[in-house]
Amino acid sequence: MASWLTYNSADGATPRQASVVILHEESGGSVLFVRRNHALAFMGGHHAFPGGRVSGFDTGRCVHNAPDEETAGYLTAAAREVFEETGVLLARGAVGREEVYGPARREILQNPEHFEPFLEAEKFYIDASDFVPAGRWITPSFSPMRFDTRYFLYRCRACLPVSPMGPEEEITEVCWLTPQQALEKRGLGEMTLSTPPAFVLQRLATFPLAEALERLRHTPGFSDTLIDYIEPAAGIHIVPVKAHTLPPATHTNCVIIGETELAIIDPGIQDEAERRRFSLHLDDICEGVGGRPTAILLTHAHPDHCAFAAGLSGHYGIPIHGHPEALSQFPGGRPLRDGAYLELAGVRPWRIRCLHTPGHHPGHLCFFEGTTRTLVCGDMVANPGTIMIDNDAGGDMDLYLKSLARLSALEPSLTVPGHGAPLIAEAGPALFRATVEHRLRREEKIRKALETGLRTVEELLPLAYDDTPVALYPLAERQLRAHLKRLDKGRHPEDTTADIHESRR
Ligand SMILES: [Zn+2]
Repeated sequence: MASWLTYNSADGATPRQASVVILHEESGGSVLFVRRNHALAFMGGHHAFPGGRVSGFDTGRCVHNAPDEETAGYLTAAAREVFEETGVLLARGAVGREEVYGPARREILQNPEHFEPFLEAEKFYIDASDFVPAGRWITPSFSPMRFDTRYFLYRCRACLPVSPMGPEEEITEVCWLTPQQALEKRGLGEMTLSTPPAFVLQRLATFPLAEALERLRHTPGFSDTLIDYIEPAAGIHIVPVKAHTLPPATHTNCVIIGETELAIIDPGIQDEAERRRFSLHLDDICEGVGGRPTAILLTHAHPDHCAFAAGLSGHYGIPIHGHPEALSQFPGGRPLRDGAYLELAGVRPWRIRCLHTPGHHPGHLCFFEGTTRTLVCGDMVANPGTIMIDNDAGGDMDLYLKSLARLSALEPSLTVPGHGAPLIAEAGPALFRATVEHRLRREEKIRKALETGLRTVEELLPLAYDDTPVALYPLAERQLRAHLKRLDKGRHPEDTTADIHESRR
């Protein structure tokens, strides 16, 4: 899976311009795919549509009929990348056969800036009207490598002969597949696609071409056609929604799981405008997978996780599920206890196991989907950030550390925290363990401060939180009180270490 998922960044890197071409064969509807080399750090082994970055030398001087200079640059990069990666030359005057231009292609692979001089020398040109705009995607801000990518669809009469770059190169395979074939392979785990190509293929598989293009260009809920959710595995949608939550987080991850029947986990959307955006978005996801929401699941009952639960429940006529301790504000809610399973109908069986993980909230649940091994862990960790354990809001530091110890024994392929970037494979359990260690180090500082004879919170804070800005003391004070309560219980770090060993057994 994409390495960028493991990264997080508050502001995000500046997106670089890129172009992607959906080569679409008219009679059978096949689409051209390239496969990235397994050895690549960025999306190694992924299938994708051909494309890449717009470079300074993509001046656009060989493009006719472009609406503006910027588009001419995007189209030059598009045609150049398709030529480099697949051998297909999308230029007027050229015959679309790879072998004719083999030597030129090899030369351009070495010196991509020679692409435009090559077109000029051969008297070829790129006709902008051959490239139909098919949407624009911007990589989410938590990625270290971000692209502002324009998609174009290029129609061809037949599947053109293609050739990959070579076993040691960036692109190791090139193939034609129908959207249905590709989505089937993805569902079986035989093909890895990032969110944008999966989205494109779902539309191409569902609608006639003209309507599919319309939907790719004007996605409901996104005024400027940029789509900011991710679908790291088929049927797992992560939608960051704006929420009033603790810094550094500004969003809550609402997770939508399933195909035919969909579960909406943690719809913590508080603002009316954001609710409208989310609802359009949800319709869009349902349309893409051909399903409908059948359940709302809550990790806990804080507003930034459940504010829109009643609204969605009423709109779709579907129940709200949560731990009994989290359902007091939801009359008629369905109680879920530790070990309960929730099944969702779909092409494959979806089984969501509930784990009771009190600490942040007495009724906190985590959800583990067994087929994809996706763990939705709510406010057990934030990435980045610290989870607030507040005695006055049902928090319990001792239970929190026990719950983290239990989670660290799981082996998820994806961990989705309530706030921040998802974590791949062992990065999830590693963050649970690091969080336990961080809390124990803090507890040790508090213990040392207590040994000096200090007793009041005001006295203890500057010693135990000497690494924390004074502005954050009001938050630190609550954490400190939670630690003091645990120490009062006579709990020791060794107890927590024992919990971790116990849960691994
Ligand atoms: Zn939260």
